[in-house]
Amino acid sequence: MNLQKHKKCMATVMKTAVISMLIFLMSAAYAYAGQPKYVFFFIGDGMATVQVNAAEIFASSVIDPDTRMHEKLGMSQMPYHGLATTFSENSYITDSAAAGTALACGYKTMSGVVAMDADGTVSYKSIAKAAHEAGMKVGIVSSVSIDHATPAVFYANQPSRGMYHEIDHDLANSGFEYFGGGGLKRPDGSLGNAYDAAIANGYTIVTDRAALEALTPDSGKVLAYNHTLDGSKALYYELDRPADHISLAEFTAKGIELLDNPNGFFMMVEGGKIDWACHANDARSAIEDTFAFDNAIKEAIDFYNAHPTETLIVVTGDHECGGLTIGYAGTGYGTYYDIINRQNQSYIEFGKVLSAAIGSGETFNDIKDDITTAFGLEFLSAFEKRTLEALADAGDHEASVTLRLAVDNYELQDLMRAFTLSKMPRSSRPSDRRTYELYGSYDPLTVTCTHMLNKKAGIAWTSYSHTGVPVPVFAQGVTGEDYVGFYDNTDIAKKLAAGMGLTLN
Ligand SMILES: [Zn+2]
Repeated sequence: MNLQKHKKCMATVMKTAVISMLIFLMSAAYAYAGQPKYVFFFIGDGMATVQVNAAEIFASSVIDPDTRMHEKLGMSQMPYHGLATTFSENSYITDSAAAGTALACGYKTMSGVVAMDADGTVSYKSIAKAAHEAGMKVGIVSSVSIDHATPAVFYANQPSRGMYHEIDHDLANSGFEYFGGGGLKRPDGSLGNAYDAAIANGYTIVTDRAALEALTPDSGKVLAYNHTLDGSKALYYELDRPADHISLAEFTAKGIELLDNPNGFFMMVEGGKIDWACHANDARSAIEDTFAFDNAIKEAIDFYNAHPTETLIVVTGDHECGGLTIGYAGTGYGTYYDIINRQNQSYIEFGKVLSAAIGSGETFNDIKDDITTAFGLEFLSAFEKRTLEALADAGDHEASVTLRLAVDNYELQDLMRAFTLSKMPRSSRPSDRRTYELYGSYDPLTVTCTHMLNKKAGIAWTSYSHTGVPVPVFAQGVTGEDYVGFYDNTDIAKKLAAGMGLTLN
Protein backbone atom coordinates (compact mmCIF):
# COMPACT_ATOMS: atom_id res chain seq x y z
CA MET A 1 0.00 0.00 0.00
CA ASN A 2 1.51 3.36 -0.99
CA LEU A 3 1.46 6.30 1.39
CA GLN A 4 -1.26 8.20 -0.49
CA LYS A 5 -3.56 5.21 -0.53
CA HIS A 6 -2.85 4.48 3.14
CA LYS A 7 -3.72 8.10 4.09
CA LYS A 8 -6.96 7.89 2.14
CA CYS A 9 -7.80 4.58 3.78
CA MET A 10 -7.05 5.97 7.25
CA ALA A 11 -9.23 9.00 6.52
CA THR A 12 -12.12 6.72 5.59
CA VAL A 13 -11.65 4.66 8.77
CA MET A 14 -11.56 7.84 10.88
CA LYS A 15 -14.62 9.25 9.12
CA THR A 16 -16.55 6.01 9.67
CA ALA A 17 -15.47 5.91 13.33
CA VAL A 18 -16.55 9.53 13.91
CA ILE A 19 -19.92 8.91 12.23
CA SER A 20 -20.43 5.72 14.27
CA MET A 21 -19.51 7.58 17.43
CA LEU A 22 -21.95 10.38 16.58
CA ILE A 23 -24.75 7.89 15.87
CA PHE A 24 -23.99 6.12 19.17
CA LEU A 25 -23.99 9.39 21.13
CA MET A 26 -27.19 10.56 19.44
CA SER A 27 -28.96 7.28 20.11
CA ALA A 28 -27.70 7.26 23.71
CA ALA A 29 -28.95 10.81 24.17
CA TYR A 30 -32.27 9.84 22.57
CA ALA A 31 -32.58 6.76 24.77
CA TYR A 32 -31.75 8.82 27.82
CA ALA A 33 -34.44 11.36 26.97
CA GLY A 34 -37.10 8.77 26.16
CA GLN A 35 -36.40 6.07 28.74
CA PRO A 36 -37.09 6.16 32.46
CA LYS A 37 -33.98 5.96 34.61
CA TYR A 38 -35.88 5.36 37.86
CA VAL A 39 -38.70 2.82 37.64
CA PHE A 40 -41.25 2.02 40.36
CA PHE A 41 -43.59 -0.94 39.96
CA PHE A 42 -46.27 -1.12 42.66
CA ILE A 43 -48.46 -4.24 42.94
CA GLY A 44 -51.48 -4.25 45.24
CA ASP A 45 -52.11 -7.94 45.88
CA GLY A 46 -55.83 -8.63 45.71
CA MET A 47 -56.41 -5.02 44.64
CA ALA A 48 -58.86 -4.34 41.82
CA THR A 49 -60.77 -1.11 41.21
CA VAL A 50 -63.27 -1.92 43.96
CA GLN A 51 -60.59 -2.12 46.69
CA VAL A 52 -59.31 1.32 45.65
CA ASN A 53 -62.88 2.61 45.48
CA ALA A 54 -63.73 1.23 48.96
CA ALA A 55 -60.70 3.00 50.47
CA GLU A 56 -61.72 6.26 48.80
CA ILE A 57 -65.32 6.00 50.02
CA PHE A 58 -64.06 5.28 53.55
CA ALA A 59 -61.74 8.30 53.40
CA SER A 60 -64.55 10.48 52.08
CA SER A 61 -67.04 9.21 54.69
CA VAL A 62 -64.77 9.40 57.72
CA ILE A 63 -61.90 11.78 57.16
CA ASP A 64 -63.90 14.42 55.36
CA PRO A 65 -67.66 13.71 55.24
CA ASP A 66 -68.31 17.11 53.62
CA THR A 67 -66.43 16.14 50.43
CA ARG A 68 -68.27 12.79 50.09
CA MET A 69 -66.89 10.80 47.13
CA HIS A 70 -64.18 13.33 46.41
CA GLU A 71 -61.25 11.87 48.36
CA LYS A 72 -58.75 10.28 45.96
CA LEU A 73 -55.81 8.05 46.69
CA GLY A 74 -52.40 9.04 45.31
CA MET A 75 -52.54 6.25 42.74
CA SER A 76 -55.93 7.37 41.34
CA GLN A 77 -54.59 10.88 40.79
CA MET A 78 -51.95 9.67 38.34
CA PRO A 79 -52.53 10.98 34.80
CA TYR A 80 -52.59 7.67 32.84
CA HIS A 81 -55.14 4.92 33.54
CA GLY A 82 -55.57 1.49 31.99
CA LEU A 83 -57.20 -1.86 32.64
CA ALA A 84 -55.56 -5.30 32.56
CA THR A 85 -56.81 -8.90 32.42
CA THR A 86 -55.80 -11.25 35.23
CA PHE A 87 -56.47 -14.84 34.04
CA SER A 88 -53.71 -17.45 34.21
CA GLU A 89 -52.79 -20.15 31.69
CA ASN A 90 -55.16 -22.65 33.29
CA SER A 91 -57.84 -20.56 35.05
CA TYR A 92 -59.97 -17.44 34.64
CA ILE A 93 -59.25 -16.90 38.33
CA THR A 94 -55.52 -16.64 38.87
CA ASP A 95 -53.28 -17.03 41.89
CA SER A 96 -50.49 -14.58 42.74
CA ALA A 97 -47.68 -16.76 41.31
CA ALA A 98 -49.17 -16.92 37.79
CA ALA A 99 -50.30 -13.28 37.92
CA GLY A 100 -46.88 -12.20 39.22
CA THR A 101 -45.10 -14.18 36.48
CA ALA A 102 -47.23 -12.36 33.89
CA LEU A 103 -46.51 -8.95 35.44
CA ALA A 104 -42.78 -9.56 36.00
CA CYS A 105 -41.84 -11.68 32.98
CA GLY A 106 -44.54 -11.18 30.33
CA TYR A 107 -45.67 -14.83 30.17
CA LYS A 108 -48.84 -16.67 31.22
CA THR A 109 -48.18 -19.72 33.36
CA MET A 110 -50.09 -22.19 35.56
CA SER A 111 -51.25 -21.05 38.97
CA GLY A 112 -48.59 -21.77 41.59
CA VAL A 113 -45.56 -21.47 39.27
CA VAL A 114 -42.86 -18.86 40.03
CA ALA A 115 -41.42 -17.28 36.85
CA MET A 116 -41.28 -20.52 34.85
CA ASP A 117 -43.38 -22.17 32.14
CA ALA A 118 -46.33 -24.40 33.06
CA ASP A 119 -44.13 -27.53 33.15
CA GLY A 120 -41.59 -25.86 35.42
CA THR A 121 -38.81 -26.51 32.91
CA VAL A 122 -38.15 -23.11 31.26
CA SER A 123 -37.13 -20.18 33.48
CA TYR A 124 -38.36 -16.71 32.56
CA LYS A 125 -36.30 -13.58 33.06
CA SER A 126 -38.08 -10.92 35.11
CA ILE A 127 -37.97 -7.21 34.35
CA ALA A 128 -36.02 -6.84 37.63
CA LYS A 129 -33.33 -9.28 36.47
CA ALA A 130 -33.13 -7.59 33.06
CA ALA A 131 -32.77 -4.18 34.76
CA HIS A 132 -30.04 -5.56 37.05
CA GLU A 133 -28.13 -7.03 34.09
CA ALA A 134 -28.30 -3.59 32.45
CA GLY A 135 -26.56 -2.04 35.46
CA MET A 136 -29.54 -0.64 37.35
CA LYS A 137 -29.83 -1.24 41.08
CA VAL A 138 -32.85 -3.30 42.14
CA GLY A 139 -35.06 -3.22 45.23
CA ILE A 140 -37.90 -5.59 46.21
CA VAL A 141 -40.29 -4.58 49.03
CA SER A 142 -43.38 -6.37 50.38
CA SER A 143 -45.67 -6.26 53.39
CA VAL A 144 -45.87 -10.07 53.38
CA SER A 145 -42.92 -12.48 53.61
CA ILE A 146 -40.31 -11.40 51.07
CA ASP A 147 -40.31 -14.95 49.63
CA HIS A 148 -44.07 -14.92 48.96
CA ALA A 149 -45.20 -15.50 45.36
CA THR A 150 -45.47 -11.85 44.23
CA PRO A 151 -42.01 -10.67 45.32
CA ALA A 152 -40.48 -14.08 44.43
CA VAL A 153 -41.35 -13.90 40.71
CA PHE A 154 -38.94 -10.95 40.38
CA TYR A 155 -35.83 -12.79 41.66
CA ALA A 156 -36.60 -16.54 41.74
CA ASN A 157 -37.47 -19.34 39.30
CA GLN A 158 -39.20 -22.31 40.94
CA PRO A 159 -41.88 -24.74 39.75
CA SER A 160 -43.92 -24.20 42.92
CA ARG A 161 -44.55 -21.15 45.09
CA GLY A 162 -44.48 -23.44 48.12
CA MET A 163 -40.75 -24.13 47.65
CA TYR A 164 -39.91 -21.36 50.10
CA HIS A 165 -36.51 -22.77 51.03
CA GLU A 166 -35.33 -22.80 47.41
CA ILE A 167 -36.86 -19.34 46.86
CA ASP A 168 -35.03 -18.04 49.96
CA HIS A 169 -31.74 -19.17 48.43
CA ASP A 170 -32.65 -17.62 45.08
CA LEU A 171 -33.03 -14.37 47.04
CA ALA A 172 -29.65 -14.77 48.75
CA ASN A 173 -28.02 -15.40 45.35
CA SER A 174 -29.92 -12.70 43.42
CA GLY A 175 -27.38 -9.92 43.88
CA PHE A 176 -30.29 -7.42 44.10
CA GLU A 177 -29.28 -4.46 46.24
CA TYR A 178 -32.29 -4.09 48.55
CA PHE A 179 -34.96 -6.33 50.07
CA GLY A 180 -37.38 -4.79 52.59
CA GLY A 181 -40.54 -5.79 54.46
CA GLY A 182 -41.41 -9.25 55.77
CA GLY A 183 -39.03 -12.11 56.56
CA LEU A 184 -38.21 -15.49 55.06
CA LYS A 185 -40.64 -18.36 55.58
CA ARG A 186 -38.23 -21.29 55.36
CA PRO A 187 -34.63 -20.13 55.74
CA ASP A 188 -33.47 -23.52 57.08
CA GLY A 189 -33.30 -26.67 54.98
CA SER A 190 -31.16 -28.82 52.73
CA LEU A 191 -29.45 -25.78 51.16
CA GLY A 192 -28.34 -24.40 54.53
CA ASN A 193 -29.56 -21.25 56.30
CA ALA A 194 -30.62 -18.64 53.73
CA TYR A 195 -29.88 -15.65 56.02
CA ASP A 196 -26.31 -16.97 56.43
CA ALA A 197 -26.08 -17.39 52.65
CA ALA A 198 -27.23 -13.78 52.18
CA ILE A 199 -24.62 -12.53 54.66
CA ALA A 200 -21.93 -14.59 52.88
CA ASN A 201 -23.03 -12.89 49.64
CA GLY A 202 -22.48 -9.45 51.15
CA TYR A 203 -25.90 -8.55 52.55
CA THR A 204 -26.30 -6.52 55.72
CA ILE A 205 -29.37 -7.62 57.69
CA VAL A 206 -31.28 -5.02 59.73
CA THR A 207 -34.43 -5.63 61.77
CA ASP A 208 -35.39 -2.35 63.41
CA ARG A 209 -36.05 1.27 62.52
CA ALA A 210 -32.85 2.69 64.05
CA ALA A 211 -30.65 0.23 62.16
CA LEU A 212 -32.55 0.88 58.93
CA GLU A 213 -32.24 4.64 59.36
CA ALA A 214 -28.49 4.30 59.98
CA LEU A 215 -27.88 2.68 56.58
CA THR A 216 -26.32 4.83 53.85
CA PRO A 217 -25.89 4.27 50.10
CA ASP A 218 -22.41 2.96 50.98
CA SER A 219 -23.84 0.19 53.18
CA GLY A 220 -23.88 -2.34 50.33
CA LYS A 221 -26.64 -4.87 49.79
CA VAL A 222 -29.42 -4.85 52.39
CA LEU A 223 -32.05 -7.29 53.68
CA ALA A 224 -34.39 -5.43 56.06
CA TYR A 225 -37.42 -6.71 57.97
CA ASN A 226 -39.28 -5.98 61.21
CA HIS A 227 -37.87 -7.70 64.31
CA THR A 228 -41.37 -8.91 65.22
CA LEU A 229 -43.46 -10.31 62.41
CA ASP A 230 -47.07 -11.45 62.28
CA GLY A 231 -48.26 -14.84 61.00
CA SER A 232 -46.50 -16.22 57.89
CA LYS A 233 -43.54 -13.82 58.47
CA ALA A 234 -45.57 -10.84 57.22
CA LEU A 235 -45.75 -7.30 58.57
CA TYR A 236 -48.67 -6.64 60.93
CA TYR A 237 -51.88 -5.35 59.39
CA GLU A 238 -51.68 -1.56 59.19
CA LEU A 239 -54.73 -1.41 61.51
CA ASP A 240 -52.73 -3.27 64.21
CA ARG A 241 -49.19 -2.01 63.48
CA PRO A 242 -47.29 -1.14 66.68
CA ALA A 243 -45.62 2.30 66.52
CA ASP A 244 -42.11 0.85 66.57
CA HIS A 245 -42.74 -1.34 63.51
CA ILE A 246 -41.33 -0.08 60.20
CA SER A 247 -44.16 0.73 57.74
CA LEU A 248 -44.33 -0.19 54.06
CA ALA A 249 -43.82 3.51 53.20
CA GLU A 250 -40.67 3.65 55.37
CA PHE A 251 -39.24 0.53 53.69
CA THR A 252 -39.98 2.18 50.33
CA ALA A 253 -38.44 5.56 51.27
CA LYS A 254 -35.26 3.91 52.54
CA GLY A 255 -35.06 1.82 49.40
CA ILE A 256 -35.17 4.97 47.27
CA GLU A 257 -32.33 6.50 49.31
CA LEU A 258 -30.16 3.36 49.12
CA LEU A 259 -30.79 2.57 45.44
CA ASP A 260 -30.37 6.07 43.98
CA ASN A 261 -27.30 6.02 41.73
CA PRO A 262 -26.18 7.34 38.31
CA ASN A 263 -27.27 4.12 36.53
CA GLY A 264 -30.81 4.33 37.89
CA PHE A 265 -32.91 1.75 39.70
CA PHE A 266 -35.92 -0.55 39.48
CA MET A 267 -38.03 -1.02 42.59
CA MET A 268 -41.04 -3.33 43.05
CA VAL A 269 -43.26 -2.69 46.08
CA GLU A 270 -46.09 -5.05 46.98
CA GLY A 271 -49.05 -4.26 49.24
CA GLY A 272 -49.50 -7.94 50.06
CA LYS A 273 -52.02 -7.94 52.88
CA ILE A 274 -54.83 -6.18 51.00
CA ASP A 275 -55.27 -9.68 49.58
CA TRP A 276 -55.14 -11.48 52.93
CA ALA A 277 -57.72 -9.13 54.50
CA CYS A 278 -60.01 -9.67 51.50
CA HIS A 279 -59.62 -13.47 51.77
CA ALA A 280 -60.88 -13.06 55.36
CA ASN A 281 -63.66 -10.66 54.25
CA ASP A 282 -62.39 -7.94 56.61
CA ALA A 283 -63.06 -4.66 54.78
CA ARG A 284 -61.55 -2.25 57.32
CA SER A 285 -58.23 -4.15 57.41
CA ALA A 286 -58.15 -4.23 53.59
CA ILE A 287 -58.85 -0.49 53.44
CA GLU A 288 -56.13 0.38 55.97
CA ASP A 289 -53.60 -1.76 54.08
CA THR A 290 -54.67 -0.02 50.86
CA PHE A 291 -53.86 3.30 52.57
CA ALA A 292 -50.48 1.88 53.68
CA PHE A 293 -49.81 0.81 50.09
CA ASP A 294 -50.83 4.25 48.81
CA ASN A 295 -48.53 5.90 51.35
CA ALA A 296 -45.65 3.88 49.85
CA ILE A 297 -46.75 5.09 46.39
CA LYS A 298 -46.68 8.68 47.69
CA GLU A 299 -42.96 8.22 48.49
CA ALA A 300 -42.44 7.42 44.80
CA ILE A 301 -44.59 10.40 43.78
CA ASP A 302 -42.38 12.67 45.94
CA PHE A 303 -39.32 11.22 44.16
CA TYR A 304 -41.04 11.74 40.79
CA ASN A 305 -41.67 15.40 41.67
CA ALA A 306 -37.90 15.82 42.18
CA HIS A 307 -37.02 13.86 38.98
CA PRO A 308 -40.03 14.27 36.66
CA THR A 309 -38.13 13.74 33.40
CA GLU A 310 -36.40 10.53 34.55
CA THR A 311 -39.01 8.65 36.61
CA LEU A 312 -41.76 6.16 35.78
CA ILE A 313 -44.33 4.91 38.31
CA VAL A 314 -46.66 2.04 37.39
CA VAL A 315 -49.29 0.77 39.85
CA THR A 316 -51.54 -2.24 39.37
CA GLY A 317 -53.12 -5.19 41.17
CA ASP A 318 -52.44 -8.86 40.41
CA HIS A 319 -56.12 -9.88 40.79
CA GLU A 320 -59.22 -9.08 42.82
CA CYS A 321 -59.89 -10.94 46.06
CA GLY A 322 -63.07 -11.66 48.02
CA GLY A 323 -65.55 -10.51 45.39
CA LEU A 324 -65.79 -7.27 47.33
CA THR A 325 -68.52 -4.93 46.20
CA ILE A 326 -69.89 -1.50 47.01
CA GLY A 327 -73.54 -2.14 47.88
CA TYR A 328 -75.54 -4.80 49.71
CA ALA A 329 -79.15 -5.99 49.55
CA GLY A 330 -79.74 -4.99 53.18
CA THR A 331 -78.70 -1.37 52.67
CA GLY A 332 -79.90 -0.69 49.12
CA TYR A 333 -78.38 2.48 47.74
CA GLY A 334 -76.95 3.46 51.12
CA THR A 335 -73.28 3.42 52.14
CA TYR A 336 -72.41 3.80 55.82
CA TYR A 337 -68.62 3.45 55.78
CA ASP A 338 -68.29 5.71 58.80
CA ILE A 339 -69.47 2.80 60.98
CA ILE A 340 -66.44 0.64 60.13
CA ASN A 341 -64.31 3.38 61.66
CA ARG A 342 -65.44 1.84 64.98
CA GLN A 343 -63.46 -1.31 64.12
CA ASN A 344 -60.19 -1.18 66.09
CA GLN A 345 -58.61 -4.57 65.39
CA SER A 346 -58.07 -6.78 62.37
CA TYR A 347 -59.69 -10.22 62.29
CA ILE A 348 -56.25 -11.61 63.24
CA GLU A 349 -55.94 -9.58 66.45
CA PHE A 350 -59.52 -10.38 67.47
CA GLY A 351 -58.76 -14.05 66.78
CA LYS A 352 -55.93 -13.88 69.35
CA VAL A 353 -58.29 -12.34 71.95
CA LEU A 354 -60.96 -14.93 71.19
CA SER A 355 -58.58 -17.90 71.49
CA ALA A 356 -57.45 -16.69 74.90
CA ALA A 357 -61.08 -16.18 75.99
CA ILE A 358 -62.13 -19.64 74.82
CA GLY A 359 -59.04 -21.11 76.49
CA SER A 360 -60.09 -19.64 79.82
CA GLY A 361 -63.65 -20.95 79.48
CA GLU A 362 -65.43 -17.63 78.82
CA THR A 363 -69.05 -17.64 77.64
CA PHE A 364 -70.62 -15.64 74.81
CA ASN A 365 -71.80 -13.00 77.32
CA ASP A 366 -68.21 -12.66 78.57
CA ILE A 367 -66.87 -11.80 75.11
CA LYS A 368 -69.53 -9.29 74.02
CA ASP A 369 -67.30 -6.42 75.16
CA ASP A 370 -64.40 -7.86 73.16
CA ILE A 371 -66.63 -7.94 70.05
CA THR A 372 -67.61 -4.29 70.63
CA THR A 373 -63.96 -3.26 71.15
CA ALA A 374 -62.76 -5.07 68.02
CA PHE A 375 -65.60 -4.48 65.55
CA GLY A 376 -67.81 -1.79 67.07
CA LEU A 377 -70.90 -4.04 67.06
CA GLU A 378 -73.23 -2.97 69.90
CA PHE A 379 -75.37 -5.09 72.23
CA LEU A 380 -77.93 -2.50 73.36
CA SER A 381 -80.71 -2.78 75.94
CA ALA A 382 -84.18 -1.46 75.03
CA PHE A 383 -83.57 1.56 77.26
CA GLU A 384 -80.18 2.34 75.67
CA LYS A 385 -81.76 2.08 72.25
CA ARG A 386 -84.58 4.51 73.11
CA THR A 387 -82.11 7.01 74.55
CA LEU A 388 -79.88 6.82 71.46
CA GLU A 389 -82.87 7.16 69.14
CA ALA A 390 -83.85 10.40 70.86
CA LEU A 391 -80.27 11.70 70.47
CA ALA A 392 -80.10 10.61 66.84
CA ASP A 393 -83.42 12.35 66.12
CA ALA A 394 -81.89 15.52 67.56
CA GLY A 395 -79.04 15.24 65.05
CA ASP A 396 -76.36 13.44 67.12
CA HIS A 397 -74.25 11.68 64.47
CA GLU A 398 -72.38 9.35 66.87
CA ALA A 399 -75.71 8.19 68.33
CA SER A 400 -76.94 7.24 64.85
CA VAL A 401 -73.66 5.38 64.16
CA THR A 402 -74.09 3.42 67.41
CA LEU A 403 -77.68 2.54 66.50
CA ARG A 404 -76.60 1.33 63.07
CA LEU A 405 -74.07 -0.94 64.80
CA ALA A 406 -76.71 -2.48 67.07
CA VAL A 407 -77.04 -6.27 66.83
CA ASP A 408 -80.67 -7.39 66.42
CA ASN A 409 -82.12 -10.70 67.62
CA TYR A 410 -81.48 -12.57 64.35
CA GLU A 411 -77.89 -11.35 64.28
CA LEU A 412 -77.45 -12.33 67.92
CA GLN A 413 -78.50 -15.91 67.04
CA ASP A 414 -75.96 -15.94 64.15
CA LEU A 415 -73.18 -14.78 66.48
CA MET A 416 -74.04 -17.32 69.19
CA ARG A 417 -74.23 -20.17 66.66
CA ALA A 418 -70.83 -19.16 65.27
CA PHE A 419 -69.35 -18.95 68.78
CA THR A 420 -70.48 -22.54 69.43
CA LEU A 421 -68.48 -23.62 66.38
CA SER A 422 -65.49 -21.44 67.33
CA LYS A 423 -65.26 -23.32 70.62
CA MET A 424 -65.02 -26.65 68.80
CA PRO A 425 -61.64 -27.93 67.59
CA ARG A 426 -61.27 -27.15 63.86
CA SER A 427 -61.22 -30.86 62.99
CA SER A 428 -64.64 -31.53 64.53
CA ARG A 429 -66.46 -28.56 62.92
CA PRO A 430 -68.91 -29.45 60.15
CA SER A 431 -67.33 -29.42 56.69
CA ASP A 432 -70.48 -29.17 54.54
CA ARG A 433 -70.92 -26.60 51.80
CA ARG A 434 -73.32 -24.42 53.78
CA THR A 435 -70.84 -24.12 56.65
CA TYR A 436 -68.06 -23.23 54.19
CA GLU A 437 -70.21 -20.54 52.55
CA LEU A 438 -70.84 -19.02 55.97
CA TYR A 439 -67.31 -19.07 57.38
CA GLY A 440 -64.81 -20.19 54.73
CA SER A 441 -61.78 -21.66 56.47
CA TYR A 442 -61.81 -18.82 59.02
CA ASP A 443 -62.76 -18.70 62.67
CA PRO A 444 -66.61 -18.81 62.58
CA LEU A 445 -67.28 -16.06 65.13
CA THR A 446 -64.65 -13.69 63.71
CA VAL A 447 -65.83 -13.92 60.12
CA THR A 448 -69.48 -13.62 61.27
CA CYS A 449 -68.51 -10.33 62.97
CA THR A 450 -66.76 -8.89 59.89
CA HIS A 451 -69.63 -9.97 57.62
CA MET A 452 -72.18 -8.40 59.97
CA LEU A 453 -70.26 -5.14 60.30
CA ASN A 454 -69.54 -4.91 56.56
CA LYS A 455 -73.17 -5.59 55.58
CA LYS A 456 -74.34 -2.83 57.92
CA ALA A 457 -71.94 -0.49 56.09
CA GLY A 458 -73.22 -1.56 52.65
CA ILE A 459 -70.19 -3.74 51.82
CA ALA A 460 -70.65 -7.29 50.50
CA TRP A 461 -68.41 -10.24 49.67
CA THR A 462 -68.96 -13.20 47.34
CA SER A 463 -65.87 -15.33 47.99
CA TYR A 464 -63.03 -16.22 50.36
CA SER A 465 -60.79 -16.56 47.31
CA HIS A 466 -59.70 -14.51 44.31
CA THR A 467 -62.11 -13.50 41.55
CA GLY A 468 -61.57 -13.08 37.81
CA VAL A 469 -62.30 -9.38 37.22
CA PRO A 470 -59.76 -7.08 35.53
CA VAL A 471 -57.50 -4.75 37.51
CA PRO A 472 -56.73 -1.06 37.09
CA VAL A 473 -53.33 0.23 35.98
CA PHE A 474 -52.21 3.71 37.04
CA ALA A 475 -49.08 5.32 35.57
CA GLN A 476 -47.17 8.55 35.80
CA GLY A 477 -43.93 9.83 34.30
CA VAL A 478 -41.66 8.89 31.39
CA THR A 479 -43.52 6.41 29.05
CA GLY A 480 -46.56 6.55 31.36
CA GLU A 481 -48.81 7.11 28.33
CA ASP A 482 -48.00 3.52 27.20
CA TYR A 483 -50.30 2.20 29.93
CA VAL A 484 -53.55 3.69 28.59
CA GLY A 485 -55.96 1.07 27.19
CA PHE A 486 -57.30 -2.40 28.01
CA TYR A 487 -54.69 -5.13 27.57
CA ASP A 488 -53.40 -8.43 28.92
CA ASN A 489 -51.48 -8.54 32.22
CA THR A 490 -48.45 -9.95 30.32
CA ASP A 491 -48.39 -6.69 28.33
CA ILE A 492 -47.43 -4.75 31.46
CA ALA A 493 -44.04 -6.52 31.66
CA LYS A 494 -43.61 -6.02 27.90
CA LYS A 495 -44.46 -2.31 28.16
CA LEU A 496 -41.97 -1.92 31.03
CA ALA A 497 -39.25 -3.70 29.03
CA ALA A 498 -39.92 -1.68 25.88
CA GLY A 499 -39.97 1.59 27.80
CA MET A 500 -36.74 0.77 29.62
CA GLY A 501 -34.99 -0.51 26.47
CA LEU A 502 -34.64 -4.01 27.97
CA THR A 503 -35.22 -7.49 26.54
CA LEU A 504 -37.13 -10.28 28.30
CA ASN A 505 -36.52 -13.85 27.07
ZN1 LIG B 1 -54.68 -14.28 47.64
